[in-house]
Amino acid sequence: MGTSMNQSDILICGGGMVGASLGIALSGHGLAVTVLEQSPPRTPTPPSYDDRTLALNWATCNILRALGVWQYLPQASPIHRVHTREEGRFGSVLLDAREQGFDSFGHVVFARDLGQALMKRLEACTDVTLLQPASLQGLQQDEAGVRAEVDMESGTQTLRAPLLVAADGTHSPVRQLLQIPAEAEDYGQVAIISNVSTEQPHEGTAWECLSPQGPFALLPLTDQRCGVVWSVPAAEKQTWLAMEDETFLAHLQKRFGYRLGRFTRVGRRASYPLKRVVPAETVWHRTLLIGNAAHAVHPLSAQGFNLGIRDVAVLAEILLRARQAQGEDWDPGHPSLLKSYRARRLPDQQRILRWTDGMVRLYRQSLPPVALARQLGLNLIGHLPALQRGILGITMGLLEQDNPLVRGEPL
Ligand SMILES: Cc1cc2nc3c(=O)[nH]c(=O)nc-3n(C[C@H](O)[C@H](O)[C@H](O)COP(=O)(O)OP(=O)(O)OC[C@H]3O[C@@H](n4cnc5c(N)ncnc54)[C@H](O)[C@@H]3O)c2cc1C
Repeated sequence: MGTSMNQSDILICGGGMVGASLGIALSGHGLAVTVLEQSPPRTPTPPSYDDRTLALNWATCNILRALGVWQYLPQASPIHRVHTREEGRFGSVLLDAREQGFDSFGHVVFARDLGQALMKRLEACTDVTLLQPASLQGLQQDEAGVRAEVDMESGTQTLRAPLLVAADGTHSPVRQLLQIPAEAEDYGQVAIISNVSTEQPHEGTAWECLSPQGPFALLPLTDQRCGVVWSVPAAEKQTWLAMEDETFLAHLQKRFGYRLGRFTRVGRRASYPLKRVVPAETVWHRTLLIGNAAHAVHPLSAQGFNLGIRDVAVLAEILLRARQAQGEDWDPGHPSLLKSYRARRLPDQQRILRWTDGMVRLYRQSLPPVALARQLGLNLIGHLPALQRGILGITMGLLEQDNPLVRGEPL
């Protein structure tokens, strides 16, 4: 497939965590890849790369290692233990990575550090053209591919490609331009995020506290700090953002207790609306949706990016294998390739959607019998190794090891 000013083999809309990862994964294989990102370069907090802390699971850490991104993430903090409990009830479960045969369950990073690492790695991919700021405004599809109208500083440009990959986030403009219907559910909550310093070391433990008022998580960070992700009713958003730091810390202390001693400092707070958005289709004639554009999930259980980067791993594997087998005459947007991508990804995507949404719904119920069943279930997990392995298979991405990147091997 030839390369000209505005023709690529693969056009990726969105240079967030997922789109940038795909650009990197496709680099070095003789393809012409273009990534469009609407935010200007070196924006202090680009949309995908803000103050949030992200728990990256075992599979994601392997993928980032295999893509050469990990070396740019020196501040990644390992998760050695995960402690889950329901607020106000007896019983909890503590899972230890070493007891399960792993060094760690994954690592915690700042979204902005991951963003910088991805951008540094992407800059070294000389065969990937990053257009930034470049905002997709219009789309046409024909037999041979897609034509994208893109607003850039130099004016509007038309870009063509036989395959368009939409990695443009929860509100995906590509999905809207193509009028792909999506099922959206607003959970009526926002996540308040921040970072806190603690009196005692967290020793690599991630804490998840569930309750009908919404989940709450503390993730281990470097320098005796933890990332806080706290779901509160959407109507209370301003109250939580505006309150004095001391008041916020007092609420936090009351909710979490003194397992880590006193919380001594809190960083900047921000809020995120919590929604589940699932399009009716993720493959639409020479266009694929990946990452949040294909499945936006609640952050409980920290699965969003972990799922999106597995889309990247499988898509890159399918495209590069087809290119190797078919040579120069290959068609990256051929329906058979898109069909096989969809078939490979659907089980994993549906499993994570069911798991995340199921957990949110289960813990929203305050009926006493449901609460009792939850409590029994949580205690049972602690005693049944087979159940623990089943849960870790889902949440650590262990079930997708037929993909080389997931195993930490290059494509
Ligand atoms: C509070 C919170 C905590 C979370 N914690 C975790 C966690 O611990 N672990 C985890 O795995 N996941 C977590 N997630 C989920 C994770 O953040 C998302 O799944 C991930 O950011 C999705 O990445 P993405 O690249 O698909 O989309 P986005 O990050 O939304 O990126 C989309 C990109 O597309 C660009 N774009 C949009 N429109 C256009 C256009 N017209 N033209 C060009 N570019 C465009 C945007 O500028 C943006 O850069 C969390 C989410 C929240 C809200």
